[in-house]
Amino acid sequence: MSKKNINVFTPFFRTDEILGEIEECLEKGWTGMGFKTQIFEDKWSEYTGIPYSHFLSSNTVGLHLAVRLLKITGGWQDGDEIITTPLTFVSTNHSILYENLKPVFADVDEYLTLDPKSVEQKITSKTKAVMFVGIGGNPGRLDQITELCRKHDIKLILDAAHMSGTLVRKGIHVGQEADATVFSFQAVKNLPTADSGMICFRDKELHELATKLSWLGIDKTTFSRAQKGSYKWKYDVPHLGYKYHGNSIMAAMGLVQLKYLDEDNSKRNEICEKYYSSLGDLDGLELIRDSEYCFKSSKHLFQVLVKDSSNGELRDKYIEEFNINGIYPGVHYIDNTNYTMFKYAQNDCPNARMFSNRLISLPLHLRLTDSDQNYIINTVKKLSGKL
Ligand SMILES: *Cc1c(COP(=O)(O)O)cnc(C)c1O
Repeated sequence: MSKKNINVFTPFFRTDEILGEIEECLEKGWTGMGFKTQIFEDKWSEYTGIPYSHFLSSNTVGLHLAVRLLKITGGWQDGDEIITTPLTFVSTNHSILYENLKPVFADVDEYLTLDPKSVEQKITSKTKAVMFVGIGGNPGRLDQITELCRKHDIKLILDAAHMSGTLVRKGIHVGQEADATVFSFQAVKNLPTADSGMICFRDKELHELATKLSWLGIDKTTFSRAQKGSYKWKYDVPHLGYKYHGNSIMAAMGLVQLKYLDEDNSKRNEICEKYYSSLGDLDGLELIRDSEYCFKSSKHLFQVLVKDSSNGELRDKYIEEFNINGIYPGVHYIDNTNYTMFKYAQNDCPNARMFSNRLISLPLHLRLTDSDQNYIINTVKKLSGKL
């Protein structure tokens, strides 16, 4: 029998349809910003109900842009603080450092997302914003965090890299109440392109500034100038901006994938239902559940917790055994305060440290067959009896 090779993520693309959309860009002679990027922005705002969307080259640049914009418009100073989570991909916390602000780590709750009680304790006179990450698509206690931000008059930035398609109430997409919400359309996310992202706002002025800052601070887009005909070379540069905008090839991919996002997320939910019902009663394994503030999760991840072994030894043993069996799970995430960059906060968040040592993300993607999932489930059962 040939060895299995089941990865935590494997993207699934509608190849023919995507090639058709890309062909339109090539035929028109327009692969850059504008054209498909504008269509995708409109469709994304319609889909999420967040009024203003701007297409970018990644979520990482979007998080930086969000912090930058709020810093400029809010008059924040270097050294001001943003309360954030240690259980995330490093992009989240780098975006704070890019602007010479200080990431202040608050602890997480049973949903692996920021615990409102811990956040409230970390608020100081220097706190300017909270950065919330909905791990695996789970909004956790984002409703309480939103209230807390209003009460203390601080901004809310949502790293929604995992949250394309998460509804917090029937028909209400997550992100409508944040000051800036940033999605990722990187290849393994729920809406996969190759690399791209979207920054979304309720506020029109922030959106206009984001559009300029993501295109070097230039006040007119090349596309709008090309459409009008005259004075193509005349523009002003009122800001020091960046080259962060997205392009029409990525938008072409995104437009196709968006059509299938709900269907894909439903399939992910079905796979998770099967994991829940098959693994829910196992001794020695806990499953992460959706919070009450979740109507439908995007189910970017299916995460389990092995028994507490304080240093992650047992989890690593599980992963080793999975690998021997041709299964390659992930870990989302290692407590960021373990990293050299964030060592100054290393004992601040005991829950995050504890979870970080116990977490495993089981394979969850649209190419996972029923028989592969059965094989994974049987392997988990075998290991949980043995380890
Ligand atoms: C993937 C990811 C990012 C970065 O997204 P890119 O589009 O690859 O820049 C940021 N935060 C989280 C939580 C992620 O999973």
